[in-house]
Amino acid sequence: MSSRPAHDLLSRIFGYDEFRGPQQAIVEHVAAGNDALVLMPTGGGKSLCYQVPSLLRDGTGIVISPLIALMQDQVEALRQLGVRAEYLNSTLDGETAARVERELLAGELDMLYVAPERLLTGRFLSLLSRSTIALFAIDEAHCVSQWGHDFRPEYRQLTVLHERWPDVPRIALTATADPPTQREIAERLDLTNAQHFVSSFDRPNIRYTVVQKDNAKRQLLDFLKVHRQEAGIVYCMSRRKVEETAEFLCKEGMNALPYHAGLPAEVRAANQRRFLREDGIVMCATIAFGMGIDKPDVRFVAHTDLPKSMEGYYQETGRAGRDGEPAEAWLCYGLGDVVLLKQMIEQSEAGEDRKTLERSKLDHLLGYCESMQCRRQVLLAGFGETYPQPCGNCDNCLLPPDAWDASVAAQKALSCVYRSGQRFGVGHLIDILRGGDNEKVRQFGHTELSTYGIGKDLDARTWRSVFRQLVASSLLEVDSSAYGGLRLTDGSREVLKGQRKVMMRRETPKAARERDRSGQRTGLAVLPQDLALFNALRGLRAELAREQNVPAFVIFHDSTLRNIAEQRPTSVDALGRVGGIGGTKLARYGDRLVEIVREEG
Ligand code: ADP
Ligand code: ZN
Repeated sequence: MSSRPAHDLLSRIFGYDEFRGPQQAIVEHVAAGNDALVLMPTGGGKSLCYQVPSLLRDGTGIVISPLIALMQDQVEALRQLGVRAEYLNSTLDGETAARVERELLAGELDMLYVAPERLLTGRFLSLLSRSTIALFAIDEAHCVSQWGHDFRPEYRQLTVLHERWPDVPRIALTATADPPTQREIAERLDLTNAQHFVSSFDRPNIRYTVVQKDNAKRQLLDFLKVHRQEAGIVYCMSRRKVEETAEFLCKEGMNALPYHAGLPAEVRAANQRRFLREDGIVMCATIAFGMGIDKPDVRFVAHTDLPKSMEGYYQETGRAGRDGEPAEAWLCYGLGDVVLLKQMIEQSEAGEDRKTLERSKLDHLLGYCESMQCRRQVLLAGFGETYPQPCGNCDNCLLPPDAWDASVAAQKALSCVYRSGQRFGVGHLIDILRGGDNEKVRQFGHTELSTYGIGKDLDARTWRSVFRQLVASSLLEVDSSAYGGLRLTDGSREVLKGQRKVMMRRETPKAARERDRSGQRTGLAVLPQDLALFNALRGLRAELAREQNVPAFVIFHDSTLRNIAEQRPTSVDALGRVGGIGGTKLARYGDRLVEIVREEG
């Protein structure tokens, strides 16, 4: 027997060799009866922080979770490990709920997941006072913040736990990165005296890439080629675009499904279920999709439009790679997106304060998109975190962009805007600069302008990139009218007078990008010689999942199957030494796994 009970339990039940990052410190702190506030990014491994202490302490661990849809999967995953877990929420029939309550009273449960509204009923509180409670875990603790998108009024009342059970340890957890929300959680939940465990919000396994939009559909397809048969999310700005994209990808032979708030609830639920339960589904969705999706093997998150803000982007991309395996966040963005978002802000009914805030959020996001610096550094800086050196796992690190002195091009572009009356959009401006001869140019007499044809040295794509960067850095502003005409700003005058140098990012030629991508796999790294066995193991997993009507990842993670395919254990004993397989799973599935290894080996 190990002298370290927590560690022993980790390997025996969960099949893991080591705690990750701060897990061990948190587990020991809570198991010893202390309160904790845990701030850890998605995929950081928050669940173990309360699951292990629940098992170490006497009584039942009570987990408060706002996501009813998730409870079932989490409880199922625990049962697969041989843990006596149940949940109580409005989806249970009375008989089952009564049984669960009896088991709680009889001390037969290791863990009980409960929705906050259920927890706060007088009936449930009185039930609790007659039970032995190991701890209270408050999951998604940011729901207590009224500034967040996920505000849940019942979370405010959770202070009752501390008042009625001062000796039961509480652990609150969230993946929210922004410091004001973190402070609010500590105050609202009465956790200011609890120890705070703050992790870095970096997600090292996610590779960030931003590309300039030129042919969005083609670019998306090229991106998805690298991720064949893998699960991922493609975010689109509008419902219509969600449906078009899903249809387009299906035509291209992919397993794509749509998800947005305008679809009937049954369709949404069915699509979400398929995404969770089947392998390799691409979910095309608005941001209505994702809250509480804890599928561990989402290999990519693609944005085909600009997200709303940096926080939004971090959350949405954070759904990739929860299992810690390589994953990709890909953003395709163009001038049109910038114009649209700027117009949305200007045209909104919001007050001036709100607009100022929205503008600065958008600027932060554009700064990220246009940055020539390591993306991770820019991303984390937005959350007040300093990432010391370039990460080596983003597009700018892997293929450092070329900067060019675009001062002259910027002057040409700005003076063209000025000469044509500060009311035309980019397409027309580029026609003038490149000396295009079309109806609109002639109609406005723009062939007579001094800027007509002065930009023939650059191609239209480069000009679009110049205009985009000018708008992104506020050297041009977008008219709030529907036409999206461009106007000069105070900054543009400095450029025109030659008082300000403008450095720009040179867009990588398409061929170079493809060469670059083809050499770099970012999906789950299965070696070619292991692929046949890996797929056979996946086949078995799919069968087991269907038999038990649970998601495949609840049975085994991809990474576990990959490890088996690599190590090819030919006995149940040897299988037990492969990471990720605890005692219960070994007993249940060991023989069948070994049989497949023998057949394929
Ligand atoms: P979070 O809730 O923070 O997003 P989870 O608790 O769902 O993260 O854990 C993310 C993934 O990491 C899960 O697939 C989990 O099984 C795995 N994991 C957590 N802790 C460990 C560990 N110590 N060793 C190996 N895998 C772990
Ligand atoms: Zn980097």
